[in-house]
Amino acid sequence: MALFKRVVPLPEAIAVIRGALETIDGPPLPLDLEELSASLSRRASAMSAAAANPSPQAMIDAFPEPAALIEPGCRFLAANSALDDLLAVRTVGRTVLQATRSDKLSEFTSRALTGCADRCEVTLPAQDNKIVGAMAAPLPGGRALLVLRDLTAQKRAEAVRGDFIANASHELRTPVSAISGAAETLLGMEADDNARPFLEMIARQAARLSRLTSDLLDLSRMESGQWPVELGSQNAVAVCESALQFVKERADAKGIHLGADVPERLKVCCDARALEQILVNLLDNAIKYTPENGRVTLLADAAGPHVMISVLDTGPGVEVRHQRRIFERFYRVDRGRARADGGSGLGLAIVKHLAQVQGGEVGVESGRGGSRFWLKLPSAP
Ligand code: ADP
Repeated sequence: MALFKRVVPLPEAIAVIRGALETIDGPPLPLDLEELSASLSRRASAMSAAAANPSPQAMIDAFPEPAALIEPGCRFLAANSALDDLLAVRTVGRTVLQATRSDKLSEFTSRALTGCADRCEVTLPAQDNKIVGAMAAPLPGGRALLVLRDLTAQKRAEAVRGDFIANASHELRTPVSAISGAAETLLGMEADDNARPFLEMIARQAARLSRLTSDLLDLSRMESGQWPVELGSQNAVAVCESALQFVKERADAKGIHLGADVPERLKVCCDARALEQILVNLLDNAIKYTPENGRVTLLADAAGPHVMISVLDTGPGVEVRHQRRIFERFYRVDRGRARADGGSGLGLAIVKHLAQVQGGEVGVESGRGGSRFWLKLPSAP
């Protein structure tokens, strides 16, 4: 204060300090300089305490996504405006169930309050059936952090795309089988030698188109839940034998030795039809990409709480840079070769989807000596 008295006239000093203080939120400033100084130091210490220990509301306001702090009783303790906007309700003080009318989101958040971090997708009846992705994580003091993301537009776009693919492939099936049938009939007749190569080409391409449309239809049905899986305890040997039987003719035609080693009493928790489809796709690829007179082997064994099933081949292998991507739709290592082999480019995408809906995982390990495609599924008692 002495410095101010000497250098700056007192009223101007007060004006400068008031100007600075007015930029800080709080009650109106006192006129008296002594009180002003005391008020200044009180606010300064309140501000440093707040910076060291921010309020729940200040913390949640710092989140860029819709977020809230949940307290015991599954009640909103603090929420940022993005979350209130998403739910179109003032949430603080309400329970998750009162704000959303979603039992699923309420139970999910309660689990986070008891210490389980998790993610889920949920439809909110009180918010025009908005679809949200929720992430909840436990916090010290029995609280939880809830972060939501609006997925409605993305899900609707996916549903429209899925319907379009399903309808288009369904519509294509009839003309494709008519072309295929006509080409086969003409080939069975005494076609002249000039026409035969063209007829063979039509029959080959129609068969390819037919496989593509049926794989597309299968995949879109799976993704839209119209291909529901029924999980139950299945005998691994029975499913493996049926898949091997399905591909045997193709293996024989290429002189490929088809082997298997599956323990008699191995039980796997799966949908038998879905597991058979996975194995047929993996075995079919192994036979397709392995040169003549090679080996394809199906192995299965218990691995802790899981069953590990592998398809090994002596083919060209898959380079590390392609290994993660070959499970994407239409991703092919060698486009020309895969097309010539008649593949749809969807076989591994179907495998991955079916493994995931049965609570499993798939992967590949590969080197110069061949590939090992593996599938991990829960074992059954
Ligand atoms: P495709 O119909 O082209 O076989 P997939 O989805 O079944 O489609 O496989 C994707 C790609 O992965 C194939 O084009 C091929 O490049 C590669 N691939 C799959 N299985 C094998 C295998 N056993 N050996 C070598 N490459 C494979």
